[in-house]
Amino acid sequence: MRLSPQQFWRIRENQYRLFITVCGSCGRKAILKRPVCPYCGSDRVHHVESSGLGVLESFTKVYYRRNSSEDDLPKFIGVVRLTEGVRVVGEIVGVGADELREGMEVEAVLRRYASDDPYGVIYYGIKFKPV
Ligand SMILES: [Zn+2]
Repeated sequence: MRLSPQQFWRIRENQYRLFITVCGSCGRKAILKRPVCPYCGSDRVHHVESSGLGVLESFTKVYYRRNSSEDDLPKFIGVVRLTEGVRVVGEIVGVGADELREGMEVEAVLRRYASDDPYGVIYYGIKFKPV
């Protein structure tokens, strides 16, 4: 799904930085800035910015071609457990298939996601690379 520039502008805060919602009622943490706790529904939440450091727990190769050229396939999508204890799914970049392994340390980086066309809006977001 392609977002309009206006939609992307509204979600940009969670798109460019990794925030964690910490619940003041149940104490659980969740990825992204959320107005309420996704576990107990409490609005007694506060937000902290993640260090961006974590461990790759699992990954898969993706061969589906949507908005990318064939040169950047396959892509690697992984589940990263951040040092703050929450998991996030993201693309793993800067590593070859033979180097990728579960348990490797990764860090969040801002990278290009896609662009509308050669002269259109360029979308950036968080991906992960090996430390
Ligand atoms: Zn809660």
